[in-house]
Amino acid sequence: MSTEQSAALFERARTVTPGGVNSPVRAFAAVGGTPRFMRSASGAWLTDVDGHDYVDLVCSWGPMLLGHAHPEVQAAIAAAIARGTSYGTPTEPEVELAEEIVSRTPAEQVRFVSSGTEATMSAIRLARGFTGRDVVVKFAGCYHGHVDSLLASAGSGVATLRGSQAHTPGRPLSVPGTAGVPAGSAAETIVLPYNDRDAVTEAFAQYGTRIACLVTEAVPGNMGVVPPAPGFNSFLAQTCREHGALFISDEVMTGFRATREGGWGLDGAIEGWVPDLMTFGKVMGGGFPAAAFGGRSDVMAHLAPEGPVYQAGTLSGNPIATTAGLATLQLATDEVYERLDATAATIRSAVAEALTAAGVPHVVQHAGTMFSVFFREGAVRDYSEAGAQDTATYAAFFHSMLDQGVYLPPSAFECWFVSAAHDDRAVSAILDALPSAATAAA
Ligand code: PLP
Repeated sequence: MSTEQSAALFERARTVTPGGVNSPVRAFAAVGGTPRFMRSASGAWLTDVDGHDYVDLVCSWGPMLLGHAHPEVQAAIAAAIARGTSYGTPTEPEVELAEEIVSRTPAEQVRFVSSGTEATMSAIRLARGFTGRDVVVKFAGCYHGHVDSLLASAGSGVATLRGSQAHTPGRPLSVPGTAGVPAGSAAETIVLPYNDRDAVTEAFAQYGTRIACLVTEAVPGNMGVVPPAPGFNSFLAQTCREHGALFISDEVMTGFRATREGGWGLDGAIEGWVPDLMTFGKVMGGGFPAAAFGGRSDVMAHLAPEGPVYQAGTLSGNPIATTAGLATLQLATDEVYERLDATAATIRSAVAEALTAAGVPHVVQHAGTMFSVFFREGAVRDYSEAGAQDTATYAAFFHSMLDQGVYLPPSAFECWFVSAAHDDRAVSAILDALPSAATAAA
């Protein structure tokens, strides 16, 4: 397959943009090869600058629930653009989108921002402002955007915690997870292993009076899909409540994607838990930069202009983005989610069948319509198990699929996403490619 035009653009991009990309995973660093520069997209298909078509199983990392260039969403966007692109004032579409989100989720109020990162950053500031406490608890393998305090790795404080020695006051709870994060930002973050109730209980027993909030993905999708053990989310919500901390459910990926209500709506997941705060992004922006955080109205009342916690945004609630998001959510009916479920189930079982036939160790995990494939044996319950997979095998599988016109996430740790536009032709193209990709991975 010729990649001449993509390679030339990548070369030009590397001169003016670090690594040639505006978000690291797009560079194909984990799988090798030339990242494909896309020129256009329609329905389930992407077309690159060399003229190759690909069935898209990334869907812009989740947002394109209805498929690319959905005619009704496009028409709503075109009509909105004709009225101007940004006014910096309140508008009707943002009220309508907020009403739609509030009607589908436990959030009583929402505030719009422009990215999932901003949403979690703002939710954490609000939780700190509301509780008057500083410490944040998160799980290893959960990603909440590139917020300083959440790019942390378990450090000496947590090691101490697990060793059941007393924590030395002033010693950081975690260490920065990347260059550029000040030690002070990570010092107030506790990073725990996912699905580990004992670790949560110990952390709250030791630091409970200092913990402002615990943030978790409703269903982690950023280490691949790792469902919470039955009752885990309700246990987290309960533990937070007992200690006066807020429970923040990050639904940036799962929101309006895993199910119509998001991760919160999964069968068996609700179990009586209601988050104090939630964050949303991806699908709710209909392909535009829009995100939100929301939750209990008594907590949200602490936000400016009426409350003491400052938060703002020039393009927050942008009329084009909120129009695209509203059109997407209104078109995402129960029937759409049933179709997405069926399509995802067909692909999941075909992948498992092909890998089994080729003798490639694997496990497929899913949460509603989201799924991922781990190239290892045995269920994956946390980040250390997710990490123990064969990424070289995934790279071989990925490249064979790519060469056959199927665009998978260029990393073994990412979710696969389908859209309502994945029709029989698109699904057949995927199924046809699987046997030789499985052989290439064997
Ligand atoms: N939270 C979750 C669960 C995510 O998956 C992501 C992005 O993938 C974010 C937050 C950050 O969102 P954004 O990339 O829009 O900043």
